[in-house]
Amino acid sequence: MEKPLSSFDAFVIGSGPNGLAAAVALAQQGLAVKIFEAKDTVGGGTRTLELTEPGFKHDICSAVHPTAAGSPFFNTLPLHKFGLEWIHPDYPVAHPLEHGEAVIIEKSFENTLNRLGKDSKNYRKLFKEFVDSWKYLSRDAFGNLRVPNHPLSMMRLGWYGMFSSNLLSSSFFDLESTRAYFSGLSAHSIIPLENAFTASFGLILGTSVHSVGWPIAKGGSHSITQALADFFESLGGKIQLGTHIESLDEIPTGKPILFDLTPQQVVSIAEQQIPEKLRSRLLNYNYGPGTFKIDFALSEPVPWLNEECRKAGTLHLGGSMEEIARSEREVWQGIHSEKPYVLISQPSIFDDSRAPQGKHTLWSYCHVPNGSTETMEQQIINQIERYAPGFRDTIISASTMHAMDFEKYNPNYIGGDINGGAQNLKQLFGRPLLKWNPYKLPVKNLYICSSSTPPGGGVHGMCGFNAAKSVLKNEFGIKLPV
Ligand SMILES: Cc1cc2nc3c(=O)[nH]c(=O)nc-3n(C[C@H](O)[C@H](O)[C@H](O)COP(=O)(O)OP(=O)(O)OC[C@H]3O[C@@H](n4cnc5c(N)ncnc54)[C@H](O)[C@@H]3O)c2cc1C
Repeated sequence: MEKPLSSFDAFVIGSGPNGLAAAVALAQQGLAVKIFEAKDTVGGGTRTLELTEPGFKHDICSAVHPTAAGSPFFNTLPLHKFGLEWIHPDYPVAHPLEHGEAVIIEKSFENTLNRLGKDSKNYRKLFKEFVDSWKYLSRDAFGNLRVPNHPLSMMRLGWYGMFSSNLLSSSFFDLESTRAYFSGLSAHSIIPLENAFTASFGLILGTSVHSVGWPIAKGGSHSITQALADFFESLGGKIQLGTHIESLDEIPTGKPILFDLTPQQVVSIAEQQIPEKLRSRLLNYNYGPGTFKIDFALSEPVPWLNEECRKAGTLHLGGSMEEIARSEREVWQGIHSEKPYVLISQPSIFDDSRAPQGKHTLWSYCHVPNGSTETMEQQIINQIERYAPGFRDTIISASTMHAMDFEKYNPNYIGGDINGGAQNLKQLFGRPLLKWNPYKLPVKNLYICSSSTPPGGGVHGMCGFNAAKSVLKNEFGIKLPV
């Protein structure tokens, strides 16, 4: 028999990695927790589906998981017992360049230094301390706003991180190739690379290559959220699928409610409860550019000109620092770049469960203006062909999603923004509101736990975990260790 809703201690709306993380953290303390999920499966931005042909499993959104594998919270959970297995590609990242050249980054820091020629000394100077201290530093970087456990390393990260990516990479590196590689990392921010603080993305992602690796999940990204959901249910948690919450009238009052949603949806669901002034502050929250994605079913691996690129899990395409910076700037100017910065993952090279024998999948996307409905299919294929001539001939079929398809697929992707809001200077720290505790909305019982809170986008569950800590402390008097 179904438990009545009134018997639950807390409710979570949305079962993305943050919603699940929050629900798990609450259930671990013995609370009865219920998740409502609009779709028929759990997972949010972490689902896998046969998008193109039977037997070809594609990660619809997230594919590469340095932040999940390095998550201070996920790493405390027995997710491997619930089917989660990480696969580390031979090389975590490659950045192909003209004439078959490429920057190849290995998980081994020392091996990478050996590849970087005259930039190796400065690469060591920039990254070594962060790589060595990442285990502890990541708790500061992904945790609540507080006095850091490792103030000196955190101050150093903050100091270098506050520069623009362009400035930091051109002052640290002499080689165009190393600058291009750093730009490819920083461009994950989806912010123009001449803006302050974009270097922080390059630093954190660049550190994670060596400290964690950039693994994929065996069987597809869905196995991350499925493992979280199964663990949650093993703790007694309940998940109600196929339930799109439209208003708080559907949930008993007086219990904490955690939104794994962005401010715009929170306002629409809790319109009655949120005072007008707060409503307009939340509606002023900014969303960033959108995404255009193509998933390919291939007859053979991508014929990268550079042989070592064939063994890389992730590739950043887009050429030099200047080219990548231009394409990211264009996106903010409302322009669909003719030569976009393209992110690639080739999971089936390392995980044979992703495609029929001998066949392959390829995951690719680029950034586009928010709300775009334009196709970038040819631009993405051209960028791949640039570094892998003959790629077109390997395509069996393809599935595309423009920015508004993303919003339709997951209402959290407003205008195709995959990070739950722009990660600009104001919203890097003040997400969704500039407050010491950004998870607690200034309304009784209401919390936000999605990537619209710190530390922002990516699969790591730390927004959810931090929000759950706030709920436990405020509503139940339970204080978890920092
Ligand atoms: C193309 C793409 C590529 C990406 N690549 C990566 C990557 O490689 N690595 C990485 O770490 N991250 C990546 N991300 C980002 C990552 O997927 C997100 O940052 C992450 O999923 C955010 O998690 P979340 O729990 O905050 O929200 P979401 O994952 O968006 O989950 C929100 C959930 O709420 C549900 N929901 C929405 N409205 C309602 C409602 N009214 N009622 C009930 N349920 C509702 C949705 O169906 C969804 O399941 C990518 C995203 C995209 C789109």
